[in-house]
Amino acid sequence: NGQSSLQKEIKKETRLGISTKKDEDFGKWYSEVCRCGDMLDYYDIKGCYILKPPAVKVWGILRAFFDAEIEKMGVEEYYFPLFVSPSCLEKEKDHIKGFSPEVAWVTRAGESELSIPIAVRPTSETVIYPYFSKWIRGHRDLPLKINQWVNVVRWEFSDPIPFIRSREFLWQEGHTAFATKTEADKEVFDILQIYSDIYEKLLAVPVIKGIKSENEKFAGGLYTATVEAFIPSSGRGIQAATSHSLGQNFAEIFGISFENKERKLEKKETKRSLVWQNSWGISTRSIGVMVMTHGDDKGLVFPPLVAPVQVVVIPVPFNGFDVNIIYEACEAVKSTLLAAGIRAKSDNRDTYACGWKYADWEQKGVPLRIEIGPRDLAKNQVRIVRRDNGAKADLPRGDLIEQVKDMLGKIQQSLFDAAKRGKDACTQKVENWDDFMEALSQKKLILAPWCDEVEVEKLVKERTKTETGAGAKTLCTPLEQPDLNEDTLCFASGKPAKKWSYWGRSY
Ligand code: AMP
Repeated sequence: NGQSSLQKEIKKETRLGISTKKDEDFGKWYSEVCRCGDMLDYYDIKGCYILKPPAVKVWGILRAFFDAEIEKMGVEEYYFPLFVSPSCLEKEKDHIKGFSPEVAWVTRAGESELSIPIAVRPTSETVIYPYFSKWIRGHRDLPLKINQWVNVVRWEFSDPIPFIRSREFLWQEGHTAFATKTEADKEVFDILQIYSDIYEKLLAVPVIKGIKSENEKFAGGLYTATVEAFIPSSGRGIQAATSHSLGQNFAEIFGISFENKERKLEKKETKRSLVWQNSWGISTRSIGVMVMTHGDDKGLVFPPLVAPVQVVVIPVPFNGFDVNIIYEACEAVKSTLLAAGIRAKSDNRDTYACGWKYADWEQKGVPLRIEIGPRDLAKNQVRIVRRDNGAKADLPRGDLIEQVKDMLGKIQQSLFDAAKRGKDACTQKVENWDDFMEALSQKKLILAPWCDEVEVEKLVKERTKTETGAGAKTLCTPLEQPDLNEDTLCFASGKPAKKWSYWGRSY
C-alpha cells in the first residue's frame, strides 16, 4: 500500500492496546503488557532485555527500601568484580555442580585465547569468600555483613521470560558471616521478613514464607528460606526471593575462621572456629511478579507505592475554550501534587486526543488519572479516575492532596486484597494422590502432607511430568504449619507425613 517499512514500524510501535486477553493466552498477554507498558524492549541476544525507565524506577524504589532496612542491620555496601577464576569457582563441589551448566565463560580476548578462561559470576559466593578468609581474623571482625547491587549471568536453557527468567539480571546479594549459628539463623529470617515486606507492602503481592526442600535448596548451602508467590492465571508458583543459611560449608572450604575467645578461655587446643554464613538475594524477577499479579486486559497496573508516575493530569480541551487556560490548570495541579511528594506528570502533548491519552496511561499502569476541562475549571474541581477499578469521582481542588493520598492508599490496599483473594481461591489442601492430580489439573496451589523424602519429591516430579506433560514439585514448606495429626500419611508415598508442604508447577 505504498507505506515504507519505517512507516509500518512506526505504526506498529504507536499502536495502542493490548491485543491478547490475560485469561486467553497468559504468556503472550504478559510479554505484550511488558512491551506496551514501556517496561522493556527485546534485545538481539536471547534472554537479555533492555530495561526502560519505568522498570528502572521501580527497581530503584525497591532498592531504596531494602537499603534502608539492611543499613539498620549494619550491612555495608561493596562492589566485587564480575569475573571469577576457575580455581575459586570450582572450589565447592555441590555449589559448582548446581551452577556449572549455567556459567558463562570468557575464553578469548581480541584475537588471543586466554591461557586460563575466566567465568562470569552466576552468584558471588566464590568471588567474595576468599576475601572473607583474608579479612576475618578475630571475633572483633564479626559479624561481617556486606551487600552488593549487581548484575549476574546465568545461561538458563529453559525459555526466558522477561524479568522472570533472564540470562542477565539485576539483583542484590548479601553475604554475611557470624560467630554463632544462632545469630546467623536469626538473620536468615530477618532478611526473609524484609523480602516479604517488599512483596506484600510495596508490590502488593501476597507471598508464603517457607523453607525449600533438599532438592530445591541453594547448591552448597545448609537450608534455604524463601518467599513464594503464586500466579493464578498460569497456575504456577514462583520463587520470589531467597535467604540461604550456608552453615559452615563454605567457611571450611575457603578457610574462613576466627580466633574464638571462649575456646581461648577454655584453653582448648585449637582456638579458631569456623564462621557461620548466610547469603540472600532478590532480583528484577520481582518486577515481573508484580506485572503478572496486577496487570489486566488494558495493560500494567502499578501499586501506588512503586508506581513511577502515581498521578497523571490530562487536559480535556473543549471547542471554543482557550486551551492554554486548561493547560495552565493542569500544570498548576501537577506542581501542587509534586510539592506534596506525589509522583505526578501532566500530559500536554497536543498531537493526541484525550481518549488516546487515557488509554496510553492506562496501559502504562498509572494508578490515578486526573482530567481537567472547562466544566471542572468552572466548578474549581477535578475529575479523578482509578486505574484499578475505573471508579470516577469529582474532587474539589481545595483538599485535593489529602484526597489523592487517601485514594493512593486505598488502591494499594485493594490491589493486595484482590491478589490475596485470588491466591487463596487457588489454594487447595489435599491428602491423597487422586485429589492431588485433580487439583493440579485445575492449576491449584496445593498444600499436602509429605514424608519429606528427597526420592518421593523426585518421583512426584517424574510422574506428573509423564502423566500431564509438566512436572510439579515442592514450592516450599510454609513456616506457618497447619496442625498435622500423628496418623496423617504422605499424599504421595503413604508413609507417615512429617510436614505440610506447598506443591505445584512453577516458573
Ligand atoms: P539464588 O541465590 O539462586 O536463590 O537466587 C536469588 C533469587 O534470584 C531467586 O530467589 C530468584 O527470585 C532470582 N532469580 C534466580 N534466577 C533468576 C533468573 N534467571 N532471572 C531472574 N531472577 C532470577
